[in-house]
Amino acid sequence: MPELPEVETIKENLKRFVINQTIISATVFWPNIIKRPEDVSEFKHLIAGQTIQDIRRKGKFLLFELDDLVLVSHLRMEGKYKVHLSEEPIDKHTHVLFRFENGEELRYRDVRKFGTMHVFAKGDELNHKPLNQLGPDPFDDAFTIVYLYQKLAKTDRVIKSVLLDQTVVAGLGNIYVDETLFKAAVHPLRKASTLTKHEAEAIWEAAIDTLQEAVTLGGTTIRSYVNSQGAMGMFQQRLLVYGQVDEPCQRCGEPIVKMSVGGRGTHVCIACQK
Ligand SMILES: [Zn+2]
Repeated sequence: MPELPEVETIKENLKRFVINQTIISATVFWPNIIKRPEDVSEFKHLIAGQTIQDIRRKGKFLLFELDDLVLVSHLRMEGKYKVHLSEEPIDKHTHVLFRFENGEELRYRDVRKFGTMHVFAKGDELNHKPLNQLGPDPFDDAFTIVYLYQKLAKTDRVIKSVLLDQTVVAGLGNIYVDETLFKAAVHPLRKASTLTKHEAEAIWEAAIDTLQEAVTLGGTTIRSYVNSQGAMGMFQQRLLVYGQVDEPCQRCGEPIVKMSVGGRGTHVCIACQK
């Protein structure tokens, strides 16, 4: 699943192709992708005639800013956007298609069909599901050390599960949580409430540093994820623990091990993550 840096990379790439494009019509081949409005014909009616002004991101969500609407899109496991010429054949995994005035098409392709789209009046998107359930994005001003420490102090859940919880912080997933906890030298099974202020600060700093570096490098290319231009993200060459089973820890030389935490494959150096 793309995490924050991959979605950020997708957003920046897409912006080059779709900003100021006017949607003349939309076609929906798989209606279950459209969650709001419930009626797909209303979705198509709302979208027609709107111009894409900007694309923003919150957590792992893409927010297409239209004239007076916002289209909130989550790619989930395999969703991908790509701009095509209208004469290019439409493959069976294309589920939503936006036709532009200039003859090009923005196509949403999703092999697993888990992706979602919601349309809201501009400004209303933060008041409803799914965005009203998200914690701050790690790059938001609201994501402070104090905020994180208070959240951690209140829960007995293990730290890895808390960092994966999108209501606490939006955008972290399995790869970047493992990297963050390694950098902060905190074991993923630590109960959040037992973490000191100093450890919370180390986690906060490691999360922001890791995500910033990954954004700069265009994200991580793992299995199905390549960005919308088919380019590979370069962050996988910087991974310290994720996918590094049996490799020596870069801090202490002990082999990295893989364990399961809350059902998620978790990479850890048990020698230096306390
Ligand atoms: Zn180590």
